[in-house]
Amino acid sequence: MSIRLRLALWYGGLFALVLLLVGLLSYAFHARGHYDDLDRALVTSASHAVAETALLTAEPHLVEGSGGLEVALRLYDPTGVLREASPGAGILPPIDPQAVLRTPAGPAFDALAGLVPPLTGPPPAPGSGAFGLLSTAEQRWRVYILPLQRDGIVAGYIEALAPLGRLDASMARLRAILLLMGVAGLAAALVGSWAVAKRALGPISRMIQTARAIALSRDFSRRIEAPPSRDELGRLAETFNEMLASLETAYRLQQRFVSDASHELRAPLTAIQGNLELLRRQQDMSEADRAEALAEAEREAGRLTRLVADLLALARADAGLHLKRRPVDLDAVVLDAFREARQLAQGQTLILEPFEPVKVMADEDRLKQLVLILLDNALKYTPAGGQVTLGLQRHDGSAEIIVRDTGVGIPPEDLPHVFERFYRADPARSRDPGGTGLGLSIAHWIVEEHGGHISLTSEPGRGTTAVVSLPVNA
Ligand code: ADP
Repeated sequence: MSIRLRLALWYGGLFALVLLLVGLLSYAFHARGHYDDLDRALVTSASHAVAETALLTAEPHLVEGSGGLEVALRLYDPTGVLREASPGAGILPPIDPQAVLRTPAGPAFDALAGLVPPLTGPPPAPGSGAFGLLSTAEQRWRVYILPLQRDGIVAGYIEALAPLGRLDASMARLRAILLLMGVAGLAAALVGSWAVAKRALGPISRMIQTARAIALSRDFSRRIEAPPSRDELGRLAETFNEMLASLETAYRLQQRFVSDASHELRAPLTAIQGNLELLRRQQDMSEADRAEALAEAEREAGRLTRLVADLLALARADAGLHLKRRPVDLDAVVLDAFREARQLAQGQTLILEPFEPVKVMADEDRLKQLVLILLDNALKYTPAGGQVTLGLQRHDGSAEIIVRDTGVGIPPEDLPHVFERFYRADPARSRDPGGTGLGLSIAHWIVEEHGGHISLTSEPGRGTTAVVSLPVNA
């Protein structure tokens, strides 16, 4: 069931409930009030009539005019025989007053009106009399019988009557009107809420369509048309678009990564294949040429191995692999990397600045890999005779590893890109064309995993400085 239908039904249902309650209560209070008023008028009229006949005459008699508006009066003798009737009540069939007193009738209103308490004062009290109901062919009559007491004995009965025809008809009309209005109101509420829900949910339908189209076409450059408002739907569309943008970036990077990786893998493979073919075809090769071909194949195989190892590290990083960190002596790691880098030096001077012991939470192997990547780069891009300095400094809450070289430097236009995968600023400048362009990407990932920060500053022709800052006690 769609949200739209559910909304409309909920809305309509609630509205119907309110309508039902309001209709029912207004009908009940209204009806009860009218019928109670009538009963009260009957009691008053009968009591007046009783009082007047007691005052004025020795024999019970009806006194003209004591009935009041719409109320007729009749007088019965003690045996229940009709003796007198006021004008308008003569044609009515007589009633048995004793029977009414023995078994009084219930209220004149219907069960619905009986659900609510009387609003206009206390309910009419029958006193020593009793209410009854009389039905003729045309209408109902409300009857009130009051015994006429003379010296402790019943001297007759006074009966007050009022026709219920007009009141009954008016109540029936009210019921019909309320029912009609209720049905019409409910229908209007259902149609209205259906339309309102459509309007409110329209942007969602459009978003669903766009999202489905994007999912099918994998065209992450598409965007959802955001509703102009800044409400929940507008924000939803905006969030969705942000998600699409980041998906688009990730997707593009992934595609580029795969194509770059294949490209990078192909070069050493082609070189190895070419050298192997050369060795197979040219049997009469000189020993020196043979050694050269073999050495090149070996070099390319080594490059391939490094490349695959780097790719594996980055793939693991992309897969969300997190490093396991434990307390590590940063100074020992730096020293270790420094010793290893000394073997890579080809004519450059490696200098280790004095430093104090620092402990960090880290993955020891990755930390060493990080320092080696920086030292390796410094050595690769520094000609023989140059200097590479490694330093470790402790600051408040952080430790800084600094690798400074006096090499070729990085042109300003390349500097913002050096952390991108496979990015190499003019490989010809390197003494070792075997770089993969992945070193700094891996370094960046390692630093991020440690909650640190890496930055490179460079002056072309004068040298480069890499600074890694790692949080201490983190
Ligand atoms: P590579 O395998 O090519 O060294 P990196 O990701 O480690 O790949 O470095 C990316 C590029 O950044 C390098 O190709 C080089 O152009 C530049 N670079 C990095 N470190 C230095 C440095 N110390 N001096 C000069 N250029 C550097």
